[in-house]
Amino acid sequence: MPTVAENIRKIQQELDQFQYELVAVSKTKPNNLILEAYEMGHRHFGENKVQDLVDKQSALPSDICWHMIGHLQSNKVKYIAPFVHLIHGVDSLKLLRIIQKEALKNSRTIDCLLQTHIAEESTKFGFDETEVIKLIEGEEIHHLTNIRIVGLMGMATNTSNESQIRKEFQSLKNLFDHLKDIKNPRTNFQVMSMGMSSDYRIALEEGSNMIRVGSSIFGARDYA
Ligand SMILES: *Cc1c(COP(=O)(O)O)cnc(C)c1O
Repeated sequence: MPTVAENIRKIQQELDQFQYELVAVSKTKPNNLILEAYEMGHRHFGENKVQDLVDKQSALPSDICWHMIGHLQSNKVKYIAPFVHLIHGVDSLKLLRIIQKEALKNSRTIDCLLQTHIAEESTKFGFDETEVIKLIEGEEIHHLTNIRIVGLMGMATNTSNESQIRKEFQSLKNLFDHLKDIKNPRTNFQVMSMGMSSDYRIALEEGSNMIRVGSSIFGARDYA
């Protein structure tokens, strides 16, 4: 079995021609594996459960940048607001308002990505395109002074049909390019978070600059 460090190096070599941030998705994985990646210089890690994020943050080195990549419940924002580096899964204005409140309490500005629906599966959380445009063009986010919306996050359909995945990523990139040009003091569109173990290469080819990779780094997850 290759080590965590070997897996990261392999991905880095393979993606040599792209500019991107690699978020190592450590959900369900123990701290010693995260430290293996840390010791080779890796600093960006992603978790999808608030409790795990909090536990790992308090146990591991303080210069790790923690990404919240899962669905975030309003009543749990307060636990991660003091330290979270980037929230990927923002899927409602209501959630943005709560993040604003907790960011203010912590005297921070919290960077957020708007999770946007691109997949066919209707189970995945997120805004649809028109909702995102309405939000960015709208008045209310001007008042969310402790929030910075830095980009979009999306997940493609879980399918082996590569052209479909590519089309979905393209649609998110087109939306990103559109939003980038809307003037708004609370936005600074820089981050396109798309691509996971099965499709990160396609995502980068279609304009992603942040990939969230779990099993290709840490091995398959055991939910037993
Ligand atoms: C688990 C997860 C990933 C990583 O998935 P892999 O297929 O293991 O790379 C990426 N993004 C989100 C939102 C996840 O929940």
